Amino acid sequence: MPGKMPYEKYDLDMYFEKYRDVPKEVIIKEDLLRLGVHYTDAALEESSKYTTKSYYLFSYDQTDVEEMKRQEFLKAPECFKFKAGPYDLRTSNNKSCIDKPGNTPYKIDCVDGKLQLFWENNYLADIELRSKPPYYSHKLPDGTPYSDIAASIFWGYLSFCTILRSCQYWGTKEECIFCDINTNARKQSKTGRPFMVFKSVEDVVTVMDTIFNKEREPINHALLLTGGAITKELKHQSNIEFYANYVRAIREKIGYRWTLHLQTTALTLDECKILKDAGVDCHHANIEVWDKEKFKIFCPGKEEFVGRDEWVKRVCDSVNVFGEGGVVPTFVSGCELGRPWGFEKWEDAAKSMKDAWEHLMSHGVTPRSSSWVIEPNSVLGQYDQPVVPLDYYIEVDIAWYETWKKYSLPPIKGFTPMGPGRCLSINSGHLDMGY
Ligand code: SF4
Repeated sequence: MPGKMPYEKYDLDMYFEKYRDVPKEVIIKEDLLRLGVHYTDAALEESSKYTTKSYYLFSYDQTDVEEMKRQEFLKAPECFKFKAGPYDLRTSNNKSCIDKPGNTPYKIDCVDGKLQLFWENNYLADIELRSKPPYYSHKLPDGTPYSDIAASIFWGYLSFCTILRSCQYWGTKEECIFCDINTNARKQSKTGRPFMVFKSVEDVVTVMDTIFNKEREPINHALLLTGGAITKELKHQSNIEFYANYVRAIREKIGYRWTLHLQTTALTLDECKILKDAGVDCHHANIEVWDKEKFKIFCPGKEEFVGRDEWVKRVCDSVNVFGEGGVVPTFVSGCELGRPWGFEKWEDAAKSMKDAWEHLMSHGVTPRSSSWVIEPNSVLGQYDQPVVPLDYYIEVDIAWYETWKKYSLPPIKGFTPMGPGRCLSINSGHLDMGY
């Protein structure tokens, strides 16, 4: 089977020793993201009582949904916190990236009624899961669960609404080669779970009204709207008008207290101003891969419709509209090592990411990293993929934090608390850095 290859045995303590200044929580988080986690039957049964995976955007699983005979896709938690254990770890929030035993050293089991995290069968930490938020019990008149409109992620800090669960960068000539959005939408529909590809303004506003006005939990602070790229008109509207309509309607209902994030393609200044006026606080035009030549191969649709240099220029310019902390392009860190087109050496890939942090942060941008999960239904998942070395992720996180301090940038606006024991982001360890 192509895709993620077996990992080589390694010594976790060696990494703690080698990177003494890096919080252990960051090292374990990155390791969990690159290798995935296996849930025992007992852990799955227990976790099904909590907030389970909603597949709000990509699958983020290391294994195909069709191979999940124990219905892991319905029972595994959206995220989990690990803490305590023999290393007295501070609380760290993590994404569930499901894999099979043997493919990952990480396992979550239920021992004497308590969920625990194991590394190579050694007890590593206690596990805490998030209770289902109140709004998860509601359904729209057509039976669609509210949770299918907006997922509660980052332990509830962020309400994540994928307005459009498909991308108009379609097929191998346009789709980003690490991405499984279009296949994930098709495969999740086949499992029988409700899976709306498109969400109406009315439904989104109803759910946001419930989350932020009627049944707000103290942890709810921000919302993020996203969708695949729109290259043609959708519902007879341009990319900008399509998303601006949602933003205006949400702002009218919930006001301006909570930070509103929007992910779109890279936009011109005039387009950014329209979205800012509509009520967007924070704009994410994801760059994904920094290296110019690799960008062309890894993001062919972005290259064709905007172009790499123009994309980066637009991101930097948009700081003049959204301000520092308000421009947040994501990188799928590690995918630039993906075979057969990626860097040969992890050191070269890490250098490329360091260049990205330097260039963007010097322009007031606060980029973020989302560590690559080798999804079997992406283009890269069709090739044998060695697991990205842990050193790469640790070096990228160190560089992000050092560069962020060098330019005295603010945190990403209304996204997550930062630092070990506080960060709620689940995509990478760089926001858990610090003391
Ligand atoms: S732009 Fe690329 S990463 Fe984003 S949804 Fe489309 S194919 Fe996936």
